[in-house]
This record gives sequence, C-alpha cells and structure tokens, in this order.
Amino acid sequence: MRIDLHTHSSASDGTEPPGGVIASAAAAGLDVVALTDHDTTSGWAAAGEAAVAHGVVLVPGTEVSALSRGVSVHLLSYLQDPAAPALADLIAQTREARLHRGRAIVERLAEDLPITWDDVLAQQQPGTVVGRPHIADALVALGVVADRTAAFDDLLSTRGRYYVPYYAPEAVEAVEAIRAAGGVPVFAHPGADGRGRVVPDSDIAALAEAGLAGLEVHHRDHTPAQVERLTALADRLGLLVTGSSDYHGAGKPNLLGENLTAPEVLAEIERQGRTGVVGRPGVGR
Ligand code: AMP
Ligand code: FE
Ligand code: FE
Ligand code: ZN
Repeated sequence: MRIDLHTHSSASDGTEPPGGVIASAAAAGLDVVALTDHDTTSGWAAAGEAAVAHGVVLVPGTEVSALSRGVSVHLLSYLQDPAAPALADLIAQTREARLHRGRAIVERLAEDLPITWDDVLAQQQPGTVVGRPHIADALVALGVVADRTAAFDDLLSTRGRYYVPYYAPEAVEAVEAIRAAGGVPVFAHPGADGRGRVVPDSDIAALAEAGLAGLEVHHRDHTPAQVERLTALADRLGLLVTGSSDYHGAGKPNLLGENLTAPEVLAEIERQGRTGVVGRPGVGR
C-alpha cells in the first residue's frame, strides 16, 4: 500500500485543483492520499468525488497554522468534523489574518516594485487561502522573478525586509481544537530547520501531553540527523510516525509518494478520527 498523507491543492497554495491532485495521486500509483490544504477544508468535496472516480482512498485533512513560543508550527489534522466550531472558527480566524498579512507584504513590496494586491488576486480563485506562494506567482507574472523558489529565496524570505508574520493560535490550543473536532493531530515537518528555529523536544512533549498523535518524521525538509532525532522522540513519547510528500503541484519540486506512511499507522489514525476516509474499496475486493 502506498500512502501519502500531506498534499496541497489550489484551495490553498498548490497549483492543481482538488480533483487534479487526486488524479495525479492515481497516476503516481498511490492507494491512499490525504488532502491537507492550509487552514481550510474547502477542497474536501471535490477531492472526495475524484477519489471515488479514480479508485483512490482520500483522507480528508487540513494543515493548521500555529505558533509555539514564536516558532511557526504546522499541525496536520486528519478526519475531523469540518463543521465542529472549535477548529472551524480557529482556522477561519487564521485565514482572515493571512489575508491582512498578504496585503501588508504587498504594501511593503510596492515601495520598491510595481506590484498591487490585484496582481495577487489575479493568481488565485476566489476563496483561496492566501499565502506567500500567491504573491510569488504575481512576482513571476510581473517578470520580477523566475519562479516561486526564487521569490522565497530572496523577496519573500522570512529574513527579508518585506516579510510580515501572521497571527496564528498557540500550538497547544490548536492541538486541543483539533481533538475537540474529532481530528487526529500530527506535527508536520517538525525538524525542518532550513525554515528557521525548530520546536525543542520539551515543547513537543508538551504537545503530546495536550493530545498530539504523531510526528511527520519522513519529509524532504528533514536531514538524516533530524529523522534520527524525531524517530527517537516519537518512540519515547509514544507518538505515531508518518511520512509524506507535501506535494504542491508545480509550485514545489516535491513529488507525490516520495515519502510514505505505513498501513498500520493509517489504521490507527482512522481508529482515532471522527469522520471516515472516502472511497475505500469494498472489503475482499
Ligand atoms: P506562508 O504560509 O504564506 O507563510 O507561505 C509559506 C508556504 O509557502 C509554505 O507552506 C510552503 O508550502 C510554501 N513555500 C515555501 N517555500 C517555497 C518554495 N521555495 N517554493 C514554493 N512554495 C514554497
Ligand atoms: Fe504550502
Ligand atoms: Fe507545512
Ligand atoms: Zn504542507
């Protein structure tokens, strides 16, 4: 079984629509794929229909933005009730914050470059969860940079002078909200030290205490040293270990299925989640 538990569609910062991600997952030979757009569940319905059509199992999810003592943290939530207010309200607040922050970044860029907010809106469907990738797309369209990666390396870097952070809930609060909504919280790329500071073991232990279910250990942003550290930490804290691609379509080099999750781990996530996966083939087929 090939199981990839972290992908993005154009509902957030992926480049393919939700159904396109599922079609790509089928073409890549995946049996199971999770759609985990940033701070939204808006792609679930279209992805579910495509999963049935393509014979792929969909695990509905969300990548929830949070902060752990000032460090940016992403928490994957699987199989939550999308209507549960605990989590729905929290991600709605983050979407609003992302919008204001996107405009603030563009205002700063506009002091030096011919970019407007309309240029960013032109790069996305209405209702998309805005992120720096959409500003990057506007910069590409304007001919300022060659691609998203070039934009992130310089103009949109967290260390750059145009960067603006956005409000996000405390990670403990987010873990509790995910659990209250019946979701299964897994810490996404917890050892991605190329992006800035990482959360120390002691704070990951506190998240485990609050209800964290697992660590996304196998991810391309992790060095072998981080994989070793996180494997040992998951073992010590009794956390599940997952692996995923963090696919963004053409927006990033990450390829579907480049990291995978074990079937027993998916079974445990399904046992803990409030809602079911979509499109599972009949037993015995
Ligand atoms: P934001 O959420 O607005 O802070 O933007 C960060 C998001 O941009 C991450 O979730 C990544 O998916 C995406 N991202 C980061 N680096 C790159 C890159 N080099 N190329 C494309 N997308 C990126
Ligand atoms: Fe992303
Ligand atoms: Fe992430
Ligand atoms: Zn992601």
